[in-house]
Amino acid sequence: MDYRRVLQQVMSTAAPYVGEGKVADYIPELARVDPKQFGFAIATVDGRVFSDGDADVPFAIESVSKVFALALVLQRGDEKYWSRVRREPSGMAFNDLIELEVENGIPRNPFINPGAIVTTDQLLADTGDAVASARALLRAETGNPNIEVDSVTAESELRTGDRNRAIAYLMASFDNMANPVDLALDHYFRQCSISITCAELAKAGLVIARHGLRADGTRLLSESDARHVIALMATCGTYDEAGNFAYRVGLPTKSGVGGGLLAVVPNHCAVAAWGPGLDPKGNSISGAVALESFAHASGLAMY
Ligand code: GLU
Repeated sequence: MDYRRVLQQVMSTAAPYVGEGKVADYIPELARVDPKQFGFAIATVDGRVFSDGDADVPFAIESVSKVFALALVLQRGDEKYWSRVRREPSGMAFNDLIELEVENGIPRNPFINPGAIVTTDQLLADTGDAVASARALLRAETGNPNIEVDSVTAESELRTGDRNRAIAYLMASFDNMANPVDLALDHYFRQCSISITCAELAKAGLVIARHGLRADGTRLLSESDARHVIALMATCGTYDEAGNFAYRVGLPTKSGVGGGLLAVVPNHCAVAAWGPGLDPKGNSISGAVALESFAHASGLAMY
């Protein structure tokens, strides 16, 4: 595979879309990000990294962190987890409350906000520090010991997080929170505020692309659980646009409202795109175009 040629193709296809869309202004700190940035990175399972544009500029990982939090929970093999959250696409917005109320406080999947709050809550109960666990994993897989929570973004999320608070209290009313709501949300907000670059995100994603094998060759999670994470990325990873992503891109992908996208091609590579301008569902416009271009140029689409 000539990844350099693929990367060139991706950059030129995405260029007209850079700056399109709206930054996530419901989190004030994200509203300050310059939308005219764009980065793309490919990390291969044999250790090569190809990147271009703003691939070394840090941004808020947001919901892409949910892939790693889920992996850390599955690693511990606590069957109780799957009684707290389901494995179905939601079809509703990522911070919707109606479905959660109708379905007795059991979120549809680990990647919408309610499911991700359950995951962080479970990780916190299991480890005593969900953020430290996620940060340690990202540090180890990227080789960057300085990966950190951006405390300004975390504070911004905490201050404006009433919707997430409503979600967590609703779940608590159905007895689906293990920790006090404020404590679990503090970890959730900080987990979402971890600062990471495209190149780092692609490297971290390799643990999923390698079906659970870490950068140092040890195993993070079983091959079957890695497949479960990939299946959930494909079916639930891009908000209520997962069907359209499967149609357009054909790669299991997780997005975040910071404009980051992480896609995996099992046994080949992990790919990260970043463009802060979002479509109305919350997915990066330039990033989605870039992944679509990557899938076509590489011939690695799954379907
Ligand atoms: N921290 C964001 C929130 O909870 C994450 C949303 C996202 O990236 O999907 O609203």
